[in-house]
Amino acid sequence: MLLKHGASAVVQSKVDEITLGILSKKTGEAITLDELLLKDGNTFITAFTTAFVMNSGKAIIVELKGQKYELKPEDLENCIDDDGNFDSEKLEKYLYSTKKRVNLRSDNYKIEDTLNDSIDVFSSFIKNNKNEKYLPTIEEMNKAFDEIEICDSNDEFNRLLKASDDDETVDLVPGFNRKGKIYLRNDVHSQVVVHEVNHTLGNVHGTTSEGISSVGINEAFTDAVTNKIVGVVGNTKYRCGAEAITDINEVCKSFINGDVMLESYYSENKSGFKTLVNTIADDQKFYDNLAEQMNIVIDDNSTYTQQEDAKDTISTMVNEFIYKAKTYDTN
Ligand SMILES: [Zn+2]
Repeated sequence: MLLKHGASAVVQSKVDEITLGILSKKTGEAITLDELLLKDGNTFITAFTTAFVMNSGKAIIVELKGQKYELKPEDLENCIDDDGNFDSEKLEKYLYSTKKRVNLRSDNYKIEDTLNDSIDVFSSFIKNNKNEKYLPTIEEMNKAFDEIEICDSNDEFNRLLKASDDDETVDLVPGFNRKGKIYLRNDVHSQVVVHEVNHTLGNVHGTTSEGISSVGINEAFTDAVTNKIVGVVGNTKYRCGAEAITDINEVCKSFINGDVMLESYYSENKSGFKTLVNTIADDQKFYDNLAEQMNIVIDDNSTYTQQEDAKDTISTMVNEFIYKAKTYDTN
């Protein structure tokens, strides 16, 4: 009895703490959900429910993985499963798919401006890196941009995506590329545009030597290269892999001249990065193992726990790689 009482007191004080945290925020200030959701979903939902009651049911601004959303009581209700438990993964998908993103779309937002910005940023990158012969030409880049189709409505977009990819999680996708034909939602930002154009212009390692399908590494490369072109780090589901590739590539620069990540992505010599990385790691399976973990992170069928474990493994592998690289010369 005593133990139970003690435990519930701890939960109650946690609920109060979160509730007060929510209520103390000024209008427009966001509550960061990432850490709260990891701890305990039911504590989280009790705190939010209390906060909503005290806040007369008004929307609360929250931030999840760097993206801001407007959270309303009904949003939480949508994420309670049949057993009455709160499903945090569902909340993330729900917020993203219902496009409650704040600041993404201002009143005078024009997709044409975003497309022009994307063309500007991409062509500047090519012009500023003239010495990197493997980069696409401006003509090739323009051709890829010409194949973009903007969908007027989300319904139209979802219909096209479902027709090409029978996947239940399609609502999470802001754009897609099918053999060079690019389809975008009408409120995407430059990061998404350049990412999809990159899928037309570059590619790495569709399948590894062991037959692992490496969607993960291709998306990680596409995002890492996109971050480099756009000059900011995107909050995509490939972020973990992109950061790993970027960190490993930085280490590679002390061993060779030039940027092996960009060269492998855009040139015919697709295996340059893989070969160099395996050599430095002194492990012929290093790259394939990394690719396998990246696949888990982005696989919608993996559980949240599996994805978090894979992220930890990737981070450990990158640290081990950096350590190997430091000691490589003296071996
Ligand atoms: Zn992609």
